[in-house]
Amino acid sequence: MTQSQTADVIIIGGGLIGLTQGLALAAHGISSHIVDRADPAIMLADGFDGRTSAISSSSMKMFEAIGLGDSLSGKGCPIEQIWVSDGLKPGELDFVPGEKDGYLGQMFENKFLRRILTRAAQESDLIQLHMPAQINSKQRDDGAARVQLDNGAVLTGQLLIVAEGRQSQTREEAGLKIAHWHYNHIALVGAITHEKSHENIAYEIFYPTGPFAVLPMLDDDQGRHRSAIVWSQTKGDAPAYLKLSPRAFTAELEKAMGHMLGIVELAAPLSSYPLGFHHAGQITAQRLALIGDSAHGIHPIAGQGLNLGLRDVASLTEVLVDGVRLGLDLGDAQLLARYSRWRSLDTLTVAASTDGLNRLFSVPGKAASAVRRFGMAVVQRTRPAKAFFMAEARGESGSLPKLLNGVAI
Ligand SMILES: Cc1cc2nc3c(=O)[nH]c(=O)nc-3n(C[C@H](O)[C@H](O)[C@H](O)COP(=O)(O)OP(=O)(O)OC[C@H]3O[C@@H](n4cnc5c(N)ncnc54)[C@H](O)[C@@H]3O)c2cc1C
Repeated sequence: MTQSQTADVIIIGGGLIGLTQGLALAAHGISSHIVDRADPAIMLADGFDGRTSAISSSSMKMFEAIGLGDSLSGKGCPIEQIWVSDGLKPGELDFVPGEKDGYLGQMFENKFLRRILTRAAQESDLIQLHMPAQINSKQRDDGAARVQLDNGAVLTGQLLIVAEGRQSQTREEAGLKIAHWHYNHIALVGAITHEKSHENIAYEIFYPTGPFAVLPMLDDDQGRHRSAIVWSQTKGDAPAYLKLSPRAFTAELEKAMGHMLGIVELAAPLSSYPLGFHHAGQITAQRLALIGDSAHGIHPIAGQGLNLGLRDVASLTEVLVDGVRLGLDLGDAQLLARYSRWRSLDTLTVAASTDGLNRLFSVPGKAASAVRRFGMAVVQRTRPAKAFFMAEARGESGSLPKLLNGVAI
């Protein structure tokens, strides 16, 4: 027998973005079905997703505004300074906020975030989780959006929110085209313990073979200093690095870091991610909105991908809450047009700047390096330029939705 279940919206994809979207809507009285084909028992296991994410201070304000402040408090490692250099050459650039400005962001382990968000969604009366669940069919028309699951349930809502990540099938089916290309890079991702304290500094070291980020984490239970690494290697070199013994790998790491953190050990198995860029030209269709990596995917060079998706969540939530107050259908074309206009400039600007940064630092040779170091020296001396880059890192530039200022709508 078919069971029909109605909520205000249907969210396909229960990753970090889909779950946050459900919770942000629930905080404003809007109900959702969240459907994910993956098994939570696998997604919440220790070995799944060893990444850490830099959560900007504006994204933190949204988490606090939707009731997650207590769960996250004290669990992230503050980033107090960002240090950028062209290889290990002198002439580095550092971003240090003023005393009253607060952190540039905080580093959280993705698996911790996933657990907090899943638990909050399970406890919410306004969210129905369907995980793992396979979708048999989807339908959108003038009246509603419908999703039929393979267990026979038919979910109905006014809007289909797509948070399926990079390889979004629903985006393809809706005919929303993406511009995309692959970088010749694989990111080697892991966690390390090290002899010296990181002093809450995030290091971005640019090598012609690709950028290398060393990002501060909280000390472990035994008081050992820890950092996360995202080390881009060319597709040709990455397999050889992955085959190195832990000791040989950490010796290479220590060299690439200029021994700034002393002796290094691997704290978790390495994982690898091929890096690519994609950007959907259009992020809405009839009763459908793309959010997160379904809409855009950028190089992790500046740690902005998840933050960009969280900005989608904040904007879409504000648009939909305004729609409810005006008595509109949540699939209303005007509401979706507002969401689309709001997000298109921000996502394209961040996407273009991270892509440009990656290309700029990939150019080999002494002349290119001299130009880069000259540019960095100019930024280093120019207060407004530094303030601009720090506002970008905090996610505080542009026209911010209320949630990113920490205000419920
Ligand atoms: C190496 C690396 C480091 C990064 N570091 C940072 C960082 O420091 N800071 C930052 O802001 N960002 C960072 N990012 C980017 C960030 O990880 C992503 O932007 C973010 O995880 C995207 O989340 P999402 O929920 O949109 O997509 P995903 O995490 O891909 O989730 C999609 C979900 O949808 C489900 N799904 C897909 N298709 C279907 C379907 N048809 N039916 C049902 N379910 C479906 C999947 O099972 C999955 O659970 C990094 C990325 C990489 C690769």
